[in-house]
Order: sequence, then C-alpha cells, then structure tokens
Amino acid sequence: MARLTQADLVDLNKTFEQRTPQELIRWVQTTFGDRAAAISAMQKAGAVICHMLSTMKVSMKVLFVDTGVLFPETLETRDRIAKEYGLEIVTLRPEKSFEEQTRELGVLYLTPEGQKQCCHLRKVEPLLKVADQYDALIGSLRRSEGGRRSVCPILAVDPEMNCLRVNPLVNFSDEQLEQYIREHNVIVNPLHDQGYPTIGCNRCTTPVLPNEPKRAGRWRHLGPWSQYCGINPTDVDQDTSLAIDLPQELIDRILGRETDFVI
Ligand code: SF4
Repeated sequence: MARLTQADLVDLNKTFEQRTPQELIRWVQTTFGDRAAAISAMQKAGAVICHMLSTMKVSMKVLFVDTGVLFPETLETRDRIAKEYGLEIVTLRPEKSFEEQTRELGVLYLTPEGQKQCCHLRKVEPLLKVADQYDALIGSLRRSEGGRRSVCPILAVDPEMNCLRVNPLVNFSDEQLEQYIREHNVIVNPLHDQGYPTIGCNRCTTPVLPNEPKRAGRWRHLGPWSQYCGINPTDVDQDTSLAIDLPQELIDRILGRETDFVI
C-alpha cells in the first residue's frame, strides 16, 4: 500500500475543474471499475447523479443509508429511481432500530453531542461497514449549497472510509441543477416541492420559509443552521494533510502517472 494525500490531488483537482460531470463519472468508472460506487440520499443532486449513471449506462452500485427514520417519500423516491433508472441501489442500515437505540441511549438527537452520536451510529457506521469494498465513492455535493460546501474539492480523500470521494457536481449552480432536472424530467423527492430544500431524517428535518437559508430546516431544534451529519468528510474536516492508503498502481492510475516497468 502507498499513501495518497489531499495535497497530491491539487493539480488533478485543478485540471478536473474543466471537466463535465459526465466526464468525471466516466473517469471514476474507468479508473476504479467495480471498486467504485455512488452514494445518494435521494435528494435533487443525488437523483441527478443517478440519472446520469443510468443514461451513461454506467453499471455502478448506488449506496443509500436508511437510518430507519426517513420520510416515506424518500424511500418511495429511492424505489422509483431504482426501478425506472435500472440501478442497483444498495440500502445500508444501522445495527439497531431507532426504537432499540432510544431504549438504550435515550433520545440522542435533542442535544448537539447526542446528534453527533446518533448521526454516527445511524449514518456513518452503516457506510463504514462496506468501506473495504470501495476505493472511490461518487457524491453529489455542490459549492452553491454554501457553508462548508462552498469550497468542496472535486476529489477529496476520506481517511475514515479509506477511499476517494468524487463530487462531479461541485460546479453545478442551483440554476443548472434545476435546468437538468427539468430537461430530463428527473425523478425528485416530492418533499422538495413542499418546502424542504434539503431532506434528512424525519426527526431532524423541517420545511423552511422562503427567506431562510436552505439548510435552516436541518437540526432546527439545535441551531445554528450550518450543521452536518458527518457522512461527507469535507463537511467536517478539510485538512490538506489528510491521507488514504491505496495500492501504488491505483495511485499511479489516479494521478495519471506512467508505470515504470523493470525488465
Ligand atoms: S439526522 Fe437526527 S435522527 Fe437522523 S441520524 Fe442524525 S441525529 Fe439521528
């Protein structure tokens, strides 16, 4: 194994700024093969990624974390996308039901520390269980979401999952996203039209008013507005010294280096 740091990706990230989302998805497919998957919470941008995978005929698994307290509309959206786009969506679940967790640990999401623990147990841990299966995960973060995401790189190392996170839509503006959805009639979670710009667990998501920030409905009971669940590492840590361990040959392929052959 060899180390790949965030700093190693600086030049490649600069080059990739000029690539379209579809070109970036194709790069992931050819570089990582079946060691790559997408991850989607079935919100608008995640649905667009699913639509792109489908129209590009990229046979890549889509990981979906079901915390056990999602809105029924979100689960229905997942099922529609799987069926109509012909995608293999792998649903990951926490070890314990929400009721079992509450019996043992109490209502965690009511305090900032409890929310971190609950999100880790119900979102991050189910994903970590499949970490050894993937070297790259395609996400759907966009810089126009603001907050920590306004500086999200296209390629980011994820030390906890020991994989590369790839966000092909980082440069998609809100207008471009809406235009893509309109033009391609993308399946979207119906809650988006009911005042929910972003959608997570039913315990921690509310609609927002027209004059509120888009993420105001996430963990509203805790405030302030800029909180994240931690499933996307760039939301919580953007340290450039972060690193992952991958086979040298794969790192060479990622960085586009020629392999040296010794005869
Ligand atoms: S969003 Fe709320 S209910 Fe869902 S995992 Fe996080 S703290 Fe728990």
